[in-house]
Amino acid sequence: MPKPRTIKTHTLESLHARCVEEGDCLIWQGYSANNTPQVYMAGPTSNAGHNGRPVSVRWLMALLEGDAEAAAEQEPGARRGFWVATCGVSGCVAPQHRKRLSKHKMMKHAQQAAMQDSISNALRIERIRRTRRAQVGKLTAEQVEEMVHSPLTLDQAAAHYGVNRSLVYKHRRRASARRVGTVWAGLGSRTNA
Ligand SMILES: [Zn+2]
Repeated sequence: MPKPRTIKTHTLESLHARCVEEGDCLIWQGYSANNTPQVYMAGPTSNAGHNGRPVSVRWLMALLEGDAEAAAEQEPGARRGFWVATCGVSGCVAPQHRKRLSKHKMMKHAQQAAMQDSISNALRIERIRRTRRAQVGKLTAEQVEEMVHSPLTLDQAAAHYGVNRSLVYKHRRRASARRVGTVWAGLGSRTNA
């Protein structure tokens, strides 16, 4: 016999409690479907045997904040929008990164999604790195190694690693001097730089 399901009443506080802050993103730690953070919400449903339905966390947060567009979706016969994260981080529910798209807009949006995903993922990784660096305050030996061998230009590498351009230059020159030294020491043997 299935257990009677008690449906939690969500509040902004209870929803926030299931997120972690990452940069200026608020990342949902709970259930997601189709890259959309979801919660089960009590309420009328056409689904027999259920007394609630899964809803978008972004939509629910907007509703709880008193957003007019979110409230309008509760009207009978109203079209539901797609509540997306403008930062491209699929689990982000930060209010400032939240946007409602109509179905038409969503279709266009979906066409760019794959590309955006990879870009935003790279940005996210970079943001995490930047945060970690800020905590440590300097580059680790591994980061220096990675920076030296990265295909990024001086300016790009400086921005990426959060250091001065001159520091990138210095490390790269030092590394290439080392390579030259190796070449001479090995009498012209090739190194895989
Ligand atoms: Zn975000």
